[in-house]
Amino acid sequence: MSPQKAIIIGSGIAGMATAIRLAVQGFEVTVFEANAFPGGKLSLFEKDGFRFDAGPSLFTEAHLVEELFELADEPMENYFSYQQLDTACHYFFENGKRLKADTDKDKLDAAIATQLGEKPGTVKDYLSRAEKLYDDVGHIFLNFSLHKTSTWIHKRVWKAVKAVRWPYLFSTLNEYNQSRFKQPETVQLFNRYATYNGSNPFKAPGMLSLIPHLEFNTGTFYPKGGMISITNALYALAQKKGVVFQFNHKVQSILQEGKKAVGVEVNQKQVRADVVVSNGDVYYTYKHLLKNEKQAARLQQLERSSSALIFYWGIQHQFEELGLHNILFTRNYSEEFAHIFEKQQTYHDPTIYINITSKMEAGHTPGKGENWFVMVNAPADNGQDWSKLVKELRKQVVLKINRMLNTDIEPLVATEIIMDPLRIAERTGTFKGSLYGTSSNSKWAAFFRPANFDSGIKNLYCCGGTVHPGGGIPLCLKSAAITADLINKDYGHQ
Ligand SMILES: Cc1cc2nc3c(=O)[nH]c(=O)nc-3n(C[C@H](O)[C@H](O)[C@H](O)COP(=O)(O)OP(=O)(O)OC[C@H]3O[C@@H](n4cnc5c(N)ncnc54)[C@H](O)[C@@H]3O)c2cc1C
Repeated sequence: MSPQKAIIIGSGIAGMATAIRLAVQGFEVTVFEANAFPGGKLSLFEKDGFRFDAGPSLFTEAHLVEELFELADEPMENYFSYQQLDTACHYFFENGKRLKADTDKDKLDAAIATQLGEKPGTVKDYLSRAEKLYDDVGHIFLNFSLHKTSTWIHKRVWKAVKAVRWPYLFSTLNEYNQSRFKQPETVQLFNRYATYNGSNPFKAPGMLSLIPHLEFNTGTFYPKGGMISITNALYALAQKKGVVFQFNHKVQSILQEGKKAVGVEVNQKQVRADVVVSNGDVYYTYKHLLKNEKQAARLQQLERSSSALIFYWGIQHQFEELGLHNILFTRNYSEEFAHIFEKQQTYHDPTIYINITSKMEAGHTPGKGENWFVMVNAPADNGQDWSKLVKELRKQVVLKINRMLNTDIEPLVATEIIMDPLRIAERTGTFKGSLYGTSSNSKWAAFFRPANFDSGIKNLYCCGGTVHPGGGIPLCLKSAAITADLINKDYGHQ
């Protein structure tokens, strides 16, 4: 019998991971990608000898990448390597306080006690609670479909329900952090984790306090060659397992016969398949590929995660006080988030994230400089005048960096690329340019996130940051696992 055919629309990380999993299950897999390159948001820019990871820069839950090599029975070391980091991030506060956040919990606890004035033991206790919350609740809600009865009758659900204490659900992350820490800087530092899925700590539930568990308990990593190595490794692995990639192939529609998906229309040709998986933004999938206006209108109502303005700067200088990950905090975090989510504007004193991979690999710059990825949170695109906002924000970013690092950065910028929400939307086919699909600004957000399958159209599945369990590399990889598992159950290949 000839193998069943699967089509994946999009080669984002979840698309590639699903392709690998389906190839291992015995499907003949073709990936259609609108761009000329794989990876979607997880891709690369190069300019004047400087190389920049275009999107993600933080790598946690590395075992999820490893798992794909194990499944494919291929030695990972032939494709990919990574190292565990000792330092999570360098933090700079406007009041002059600074903190080098070690990933070692004892050292972190001690540093936060001496430099921010927190009571010793408080941070370790916080991280233990985060670990328990992740194990009790995260496991079931992040690794299984929430849209299948089989998930809900699993006994771990009851364990999860029992573990959900009042503050995790009914306090905001900020309120929860205020109840655990005395110092405003520690609260701000742990509030920041809401941004790991593009949310607002003054709205998102205390449940998000499980996120730091990933950085400090399970580890933060650096892939050799930068984040693009993850894309390159999965692309090579998929090809090794027989997956065919067709670049510059933008899918125009998903073909249906009755209530069944039977293939796609791409570059004016119809290509048939037994299974269709969309890794594109779920809103666009329903709006444009399925022409399902009702479902698109429903998805449009869901609040989007934040987007970003990013300045990729080739810098002709080395800054000793900076590391791979650096944060220059705003003076007023609540105002910053109110601007982003309520006023849909950028904020004049933004929190600035600077990622510098040349701290790890000198070859990422042409000379003795540094490759700065300078990102500030921004609202998703709602028709704002981005060229005006970029100009304004660039000035504010330069002033803040000068003030907080006691430098004059402008003359040191040798080369520049700029991305705004419009460009992110255009480059990755993402609705409104949001980084992580829908926000987690309500306690029920996880339950409204779209499913990994369509209950009304047989053979149609969805994976990636805009569907369950959400955005970010680890969750996208989990989304691929959930989707491939559903397909496996439906088709019984293994
Ligand atoms: C600036 C930025 C910073 C980020 N920082 C981090 C971070 O530090 N850590 C982290 O974990 N995550 C981070 N993220 C989020 C993370 O990048 C995403 O959640 C993840 O990469 C999304 O992957 P995905 O599989 O959903 O697909 P995407 O990367 O969204 O790719 C989808 C692909 O589908 C293709 N496509 C869409 N429609 C079609 C069509 N009709 N036909 C053919 N192809 C189509 C697109 O061209 C694209 O290649 C960041 C994102 C950005 C943009």
